[in-house]
Amino acid sequence: MIEIIKKNKLMTVVFLIYIFLFIVMPDKAYLSVKNSMYYIIEMIEILPVIFILTSIIEAWVPKEVILNGFGEKSGIKGNIFSFLLGSFSAGPIYAAFPICKMLLKKGASISNVVIILSSWAVIKVPMLANEAKFLGPKFMGIRWILTVISILIMSYLTAVFVKKEDIALKEEQSLNKVTGIDIKKQYCIGCGLCEKLMPQHFKLVDKKAHIREAVLDDAKINELKEVIDKCPVKAIYLK
Ligand code: SF4
Repeated sequence: MIEIIKKNKLMTVVFLIYIFLFIVMPDKAYLSVKNSMYYIIEMIEILPVIFILTSIIEAWVPKEVILNGFGEKSGIKGNIFSFLLGSFSAGPIYAAFPICKMLLKKGASISNVVIILSSWAVIKVPMLANEAKFLGPKFMGIRWILTVISILIMSYLTAVFVKKEDIALKEEQSLNKVTGIDIKKQYCIGCGLCEKLMPQHFKLVDKKAHIREAVLDDAKINELKEVIDKCPVKAIYLK
């Protein structure tokens, strides 16, 4: 029981707040439960579709496509693609998080992910049409321009302060459960970096990286994480 509580601290706190509310303000507690149920049902309806979509993109869209379209070197083209993806998306903002996580894993840059999330939240095309209808095209146009400028500044600043290693840190505990490493050879461009950094685990054969030793001891995890991050096409992954 204590183990379950430890693993679900946030849920436990929410549960305790509900109990407290039901004791002191039952009407407000009832309203809160009703609102929570509304959002839970909405998530149950939307998230499975998003997870299926994310899995399809993850499995079918090659890393090169993500790297070219949204990667560190995609430049202004990547920014425009990110604005378009966010602006023409459908669904609530929480649907964007699994998609953005998948894009990050496949090589999208932090700044482009900020642009996707921000434009998904505040400059979606259907929302702009409604805004123009109710508040006028001039209001909508000026707000759009200022919002785009703000998003670009935010994306730049976020990329300065947040590095991909910071996001990957959350997965560090689970790295201990890793049983080995593997390479998606179709993505490998044969740069030889992995072999240079961890010759005991990687070797280059016919300009493709191969696994020399797949089993990893705990002491090597951080070293491997660095190689995974440095692989230019993100072809190395953990099993
Ligand atoms: S670092 Fe990546 S691209 Fe370079 S050889 Fe290794 S797997 Fe291939």
